[in-house]
Amino acid sequence: MQVTSVDVREIALTRKASFVSSRATTHERRIILVTVRDANGLEGWGECSAPEEPRYNEEWTTSAWYFINDVLMPSLLAREHQDTRALHELLACFRGNRMAKAAVEEAFYDLEARKHGVALWEFLGGTDDPIPCGVSIGIAQSIDAVLSAIVRELEAGYRRIKLKIQPGWDVEVVEAVRLRFPHIALMVDANGAYAADDLNTLTVLDQYDLLMIEQPFAPDDWLANQQAQECLRTPICLDESILSAVDMAAAIELRLCRALNLKLGRVGGHDESRRIIRLCSLQDVACWCGGLHEAGIGRAHNLAMAASMARDVPAELSASGRYWEEDIIVPEMTVTRDGYIRPPNAPGIGFEINYDLIGKCTLRRSTHDFV
Ligand code: MG
Repeated sequence: MQVTSVDVREIALTRKASFVSSRATTHERRIILVTVRDANGLEGWGECSAPEEPRYNEEWTTSAWYFINDVLMPSLLAREHQDTRALHELLACFRGNRMAKAAVEEAFYDLEARKHGVALWEFLGGTDDPIPCGVSIGIAQSIDAVLSAIVRELEAGYRRIKLKIQPGWDVEVVEAVRLRFPHIALMVDANGAYAADDLNTLTVLDQYDLLMIEQPFAPDDWLANQQAQECLRTPICLDESILSAVDMAAAIELRLCRALNLKLGRVGGHDESRRIIRLCSLQDVACWCGGLHEAGIGRAHNLAMAASMARDVPAELSASGRYWEEDIIVPEMTVTRDGYIRPPNAPGIGFEINYDLIGKCTLRRSTHDFV
């Protein structure tokens, strides 16, 4: 499959709720989209999950723009062929920048699947069993606000509630939620906010029948994770710490965790995700699909990835309308009343592209022709 051109765009998509960053409160999410085309005019689309600021990992929208346009595309142009194999060889030459790499790899895979006339989930080896969905609830103004948000999400059908926690916003809120909802599938995510000497707090959380405690310590604090998993009954789930199958193999060997929140962008795309999913399934690690507030194209790729996973833990996949005024895919992604999404059967990512909306919200665009 020879790619003849690549388009890189930056769009500003309107969020439903405002978002507070270090510089401003904004209603927009700036996202990099990648479109690859072949000689027959077939297209494949990818979306970069990097946010506007490097708070989740070291990548951000602007770093992805420069990596793809100024490093990756000139190097791809210099290759004899511009196909998926050449892309993978090239991606291995550069360190880091996994979210940017994933956006390009996603577009290549979408095009490959469309060319074969099959759904991407099928192309990747998954099944079309419905995928159970859960949601994440951020740090709120009050415990009452959290309880109301949970009522809303349960009414919308979501099957697992994840509470974001941090020192000072943990035991009290978890206790209140458990008192009100004794039987829901509940977990917490600390995004690395705790230090090794906070183990006491985690030990208290251990009593609330949580599905898992996600990323309690900094991404590189593997020792604290190991000590915590040794004394906690609740499985630790890693997120930010795991960037590759090699990381995952080490985490399993060192007994750091019993679950993994797998994010397609964080590990660099579908190829690496498949290696990690296989490893987790062989080693009995609960691997589930996470998300980073992606728009529709990114979310469709997450859905294709989730189709290769066991369905034990609900994925972090939700309806388009939960985040966006209007989404960049047609039809928009919806969740059934009982909280499932079924992988679509149309070729590639299985959704049409909302060209009108993307045209309207494009901030800049760069085209790389290979012929
Ligand atoms: Mg997380």
